[in-house]
Amino acid sequence: MSHRTKDEVTDVAARNLYNRYADAKGLSQAKYEDVYGLISRVGFATVKARRVIDAAAIIMDRYSGKVPDTVEELTVIPGVGRKTANVVLADALGKPAIAVDTHVHRISNRIGWSNTKNPDETEQELIKIIPVEYWLGFNPVLVEFGKKICKPIGPRCGECSINAYCSYYRETSKNPDKGTTKKAKKNSGK
Ligand code: SF4
Repeated sequence: MSHRTKDEVTDVAARNLYNRYADAKGLSQAKYEDVYGLISRVGFATVKARRVIDAAAIIMDRYSGKVPDTVEELTVIPGVGRKTANVVLADALGKPAIAVDTHVHRISNRIGWSNTKNPDETEQELIKIIPVEYWLGFNPVLVEFGKKICKPIGPRCGECSINAYCSYYRETSKNPDKGTTKKAKKNSGK
């Protein structure tokens, strides 16, 4: 539900669903209007209300009410891409996985850990170089870092504690104009 939605709004909507429906069975039998009413403030709520009911129904029908624990099975569920699947694996099931959202994608490309066009490609590069014991906490750390320091526009490189290791910083400090070039805009993750 977080797509195109502020974290605070997503949190309230998720809490509303958890409070109303105890499990996948309850949600799979929910009325569309009721679910829509609980999540109406998230972006594209009309589509997402239908999707969460359908997702719950798939989990009931195919997996006997137990959330599957592989990316392959999770991404069969409509609306679930690799990022969401990896969030479920890492945050809900405690399995090592790197969820790559726009923050992780942008920061990885700026630093030089990857040189990729989309988050799925970035994930493939990161799993080659990040030791598996760091996968679980990787997304939350980079998301916070991306909100506070390595912002999409106007990264705070001067106060960044890892700027000595960052390709973007090396390039832009040699040539300050590069911070506004096409490449810099590409690296904003937008
Ligand atoms: S130096 Fe700048 S671009 Fe590099 S990681 Fe830090 S904030 Fe981001």
